[in-house]
Amino acid sequence: MGSCIIVGGGIAGLFASILASEKFDSVTLIEGSEKCGGLLKSWKNKQQISFDFGTHILSETANDEMNAILFKGIYEHPELWNSFDVTKVSNSFSGKIYDEAQFIALHHLTEVDYKLALSELLLAPGRSLDEAKNLYEYAVDNYGPIITNKIFRPLFQKMQQAELEELHPNVHIIFAFNRFILSDTTLSKALKKIDKFDSKLAFSSYYDGLSGAKKFYPKERGIELWVEHLCEQAKEKGVEIRLNTQIAKINSDNNHVTQVVLSNGEELNCSQLIWTIPAIFAIRAAGVDYKSSVKPEFCPMSLHHLVFDSPFLDKNYYSNINEFDCDGFRITLYPNILDKKKSNLHHCTVEVLHSELSGNALSAKLADELKALGYVEKNAQLVQSDEIKVPMGFPKFTNEFVNEKVRQVDLLNDSFKNMTLLGKASKTEFFVYGILQETFDAIKKLAHYE
Ligand SMILES: Cc1cc2nc3c(=O)[nH]c(=O)nc-3n(C[C@H](O)[C@H](O)[C@H](O)COP(=O)(O)OP(=O)(O)OC[C@H]3O[C@@H](n4cnc5c(N)ncnc54)[C@H](O)[C@@H]3O)c2cc1C
Repeated sequence: MGSCIIVGGGIAGLFASILASEKFDSVTLIEGSEKCGGLLKSWKNKQQISFDFGTHILSETANDEMNAILFKGIYEHPELWNSFDVTKVSNSFSGKIYDEAQFIALHHLTEVDYKLALSELLLAPGRSLDEAKNLYEYAVDNYGPIITNKIFRPLFQKMQQAELEELHPNVHIIFAFNRFILSDTTLSKALKKIDKFDSKLAFSSYYDGLSGAKKFYPKERGIELWVEHLCEQAKEKGVEIRLNTQIAKINSDNNHVTQVVLSNGEELNCSQLIWTIPAIFAIRAAGVDYKSSVKPEFCPMSLHHLVFDSPFLDKNYYSNINEFDCDGFRITLYPNILDKKKSNLHHCTVEVLHSELSGNALSAKLADELKALGYVEKNAQLVQSDEIKVPMGFPKFTNEFVNEKVRQVDLLNDSFKNMTLLGKASKTEFFVYGILQETFDAIKKLAHYE
């Protein structure tokens, strides 16, 4: 069925390349940097300790065919991987750690606010994502004014540097603010049986409501081991991986992409183009007529890879730091995920979405925050810190940004019949699993597997 060119060697492009190899005569994956993996790469400090770009614990999907491809390397090499039944996540809010769920515990509000928040949440009229003009409208009609103004507003000022009125209603899901915990577990379980409340309330423990899906993390190193397995599989299937190169030009004829020109001038014929990097780059490379006054804004983030001299007090794999006045937004606690018998390190990654500080001063502030919140002992010493800046971290999910992304993808879909937009060019998906499912469905449809 001709030649398939895939642009972007992140998880979307890699998975797409393996799927496409079943149908196309040749598949070439174009990756701009020296390694595949995108945000699933790992990084080593000078002591050769591995850190990831944020939290990446793998979970089986509900689709056996996808699992067989995605986790082939893990099933074949179980000795290299830890496997778990539960992803253990905590979160802190109002200065307290809730140590059995990633969702905010409403009873950590003041007693007066808790009672009000609870009654407002139960009596909220509800409004669908499509009906809400912005996050404020969605939040106030689904969760009520206390949660909207005392939780959503300050947290989105911290996470997105934006007011709720500017943001797209979907964005709260990205930050796991779609569900809340009640102090009364029995009441919570009873209410969760009612559809209207199920989507707004969380189980009070991650041991409840388990899906049965296995979770995985490498025993001794970072998540890039998964990327290595996938690259091996892609190569076994005949995929040609071209590193350190980009698409300079897309040539087309009669609404079909016919050829791509690489940055070194090489021309590759193409019967199907799969694009997994932002759609704007395809618009430019193809010379499609496009004008826009919307300039996407990104929250430049930084990752702080910290090593302490004493063990962490929180035993979870990661924790969401939902504190308005802390710079840290999430902490990944590697010793709790790695092979404990072999790991005597006390290392973590703290993600920061916005701070007035940077470098060592910021790392020192983060260490103090972790001590104050009780993730680390008060007298623990920070023995090593490294900062990695991610200039294009999280986009600011404003209505303008989301709508413009959709417009760009629609424009390309209208312009070319043989271009598929996935991954970073997806209209709707952001998380790894949404991206993988969309990739699977799109390539399956494209390649007429059934
Ligand atoms: C800070 C942060 C935290 C996140 N946390 C989570 C999380 O906790 N859970 C979760 O499920 N998801 C999370 N995500 C989202 C997740 O990282 C993405 O869903 C996933 O990595 C996207 O995969 P991708 O292949 O689409 O893109 P990427 O991982 O970005 O890969 C794109 C690839 O394309 C390459 N590339 C870029 N430009 C070019 C070019 N011009 N030519 C050729 N190649 C190019 C890049 O080098 C890269 O390898 C997070 C994202 C961010 C930014």
